[in-house]
Amino acid sequence: MKILKFGGSSVADSEKILNVVKIAKQKMLETKTAIVVVSALSGTTDELINLANTAKSGKDYSVSLNNLKDRHILCLKEISLYNLNSNSNLKDTENIVASLFNDLSQKLNGIKLLKEVSSKTLDTIVSFGEILSSNIITFAFNISKSDNSENTSATFIDARNLIITDQSYGNAKVNFEITEKNINKFFENKFGIYVVTGFIASSEDGETTTLGRGGSDYTASIIGSALNVSEIEIWTDVSGLYTADPSIVKKAFPQNHVSYAEAMELSHFGAKVIYPPTILPALNKDIPIIIKNTYQPEAQGTIISKQINKERKTICGISSIKSISFLRLEGGGMVGIAGISKRLFSALADKKINVILITQASSEHT
Ligand code: ASP
Ligand code: MG
Repeated sequence: MKILKFGGSSVADSEKILNVVKIAKQKMLETKTAIVVVSALSGTTDELINLANTAKSGKDYSVSLNNLKDRHILCLKEISLYNLNSNSNLKDTENIVASLFNDLSQKLNGIKLLKEVSSKTLDTIVSFGEILSSNIITFAFNISKSDNSENTSATFIDARNLIITDQSYGNAKVNFEITEKNINKFFENKFGIYVVTGFIASSEDGETTTLGRGGSDYTASIIGSALNVSEIEIWTDVSGLYTADPSIVKKAFPQNHVSYAEAMELSHFGAKVIYPPTILPALNKDIPIIIKNTYQPEAQGTIISKQINKERKTICGISSIKSISFLRLEGGGMVGIAGISKRLFSALADKKINVILITQASSEHT
């Protein structure tokens, strides 16, 4: 059994989706079951949030909604140009996409009428992104004829039936006990390709929830660890975890191997390649996570595992966060005075300013 996750940039359009199909079908030479977790088409989640906010403000959102629909329909039609399989029916998937957009349109209209969007409603709105992409990608898997077509035919899976969370909408906490049972029961004796919606889940009473922005990585890790797979593959648009942000540091290069702890540290501090919570389920079951580049499948990528890289003599990497303010308070009046820090940090806290790093000179002058 293999688990592969493809992010939004890897499924941005028809050409990229067909490349994903190629990569995943290649895996079917080594295994009987591949679980393919996918994100929404790149930019879709942001666009859905914009639509909800526009609807809330009472403004007209129909042009943006139509553009989003056109993009999905175009993607599907372009994929269908490669259709070699008379059994797979473009019309069926087209109908699914059209009815999802009808449903979305009605919900947005509800927001417009009420002039209100709760985090619960927003989760329902953004869930359309992954449901749409997964349906289109399932279709893409099913168009190509192959000799062992029963093995490579794909089934759409709505992760809301498997991953159960609490009701912290926008960033829901997973109930691992129920979720792992659901996943194991569902995938028992299952063969073929399963295309699973990333990012979305449901509460115990069936309301749609999400796992936090970038949460599709986490979906793959939750499913992979429940099934005790031998590795979890995260396919993205770069060749692994870099020593620094390559858009800032020209000499940055991908690390072949980092430990769970190093990956966790890097991802919490700005390296966007992996969503931080992803690491924990894998670490608990000691399953390596492999980061691979969809555009360069032959590149080695990065393995994240328990092992410490002993060959590396220097630090693992430098991560960075943009838009950080640096505040320096100095003056003789602070030396030896108790409560100065309390006043400073209370003032910041009152304005809901989060502090990520604190340091004080031993003289207490600054
Ligand atoms: N589509 C979701 C987002 O943009 C989840 C993901 O891409 O992993 O946050
Ligand atoms: Mg994304």
